[in-house]
Amino acid sequence: MASTLSPLYPWQQTLWRQFQQSWQQQRLPHALLLHGADGMGKQAFANNIAAALLCQQPKNQHACGQCTACHWLATGNHLDYLIYQADIGKALKIDDIRQLLGQALLTPRHGRYQIFCITPADAMNRAAANALLKILEEPPAQTLLLLLSAHHFRLLPTVRSRCQSFNFDRCEKEPQQHWLAQQTQQSVEQAAALLAAAKSPLQAVKYPNLLLEQEKIWADWQAVLQQRQDMVSVALSWAKTDVEQVLDCLSAGLMLVIRQRMGLMPATHLLMPWANQCSISQLFTLLQLIWQQQQTLQQQQLKPQTALEAVLLASLNPDTATPQ
Ligand SMILES: [Zn+2]
Repeated sequence: MASTLSPLYPWQQTLWRQFQQSWQQQRLPHALLLHGADGMGKQAFANNIAAALLCQQPKNQHACGQCTACHWLATGNHLDYLIYQADIGKALKIDDIRQLLGQALLTPRHGRYQIFCITPADAMNRAAANALLKILEEPPAQTLLLLLSAHHFRLLPTVRSRCQSFNFDRCEKEPQQHWLAQQTQQSVEQAAALLAAAKSPLQAVKYPNLLLEQEKIWADWQAVLQQRQDMVSVALSWAKTDVEQVLDCLSAGLMLVIRQRMGLMPATHLLMPWANQCSISQLFTLLQLIWQQQQTLQQQQLKPQTALEAVLLASLNPDTATPQ
């Protein structure tokens, strides 16, 4: 009975030891908050925790991969591991959490634990989060909650403070770079550059041409700033691609020019002639505007093209760039 549970990623070892220690010392809390950028493998980590805790014969705090419990888990059929996943852009509502509350009051069907995974936890609306607080305040015995989030500051502080935090953004870079180099068959230096642009190894694998695309987006932006290209048509062509990725590229470019403008790096960026005409505070205001458009887009309150046009327009008139 071979397990198809995806293994831990090499950069997760330190966090895994943190989990093992808590378990070993019987200090495992009732809720863990796994937070960090998308593409750090938080779900794989959560699945490994569930597998280890539910396994009938764990070895060194790892699932054996052979027993019935491991088989159920690997095929997604373990009744004591429930994943509540929000659809992209949709909220997790109070009914979802109520269902979880109902389940949590039952005893585990097979194992020693009942494990609930909520992802992304920041998709819970306020009513849902308040309902979840009830579990966090009086957790039933043998219950473990795994909250996954790339934007954990959007969670209620009362929810956050009741979880043990696992910060994936602090994972060592070196194992990520080596893993990525192997996956994409490039040098470690190239992988490091790609990783810096993509922010996480799994995102980098998803966008292997990100550096080229980034250059292209910066060139388009420069063309608008030099009025060689029309703002509306550039925004329209960007809006047809992965808009979140475009905004990430714009903010990455802007952060580079800010560092160069402050003399922290050689001033080589193609947007530097424009940046030299702006004040540092104007550049920061523009950066804030980009982040704000990203948030608004995630909440689906804005058309992608409108968001992109707002950023381009503000970069053409930096003195009027004020985040709403
Ligand atoms: Zn097992």
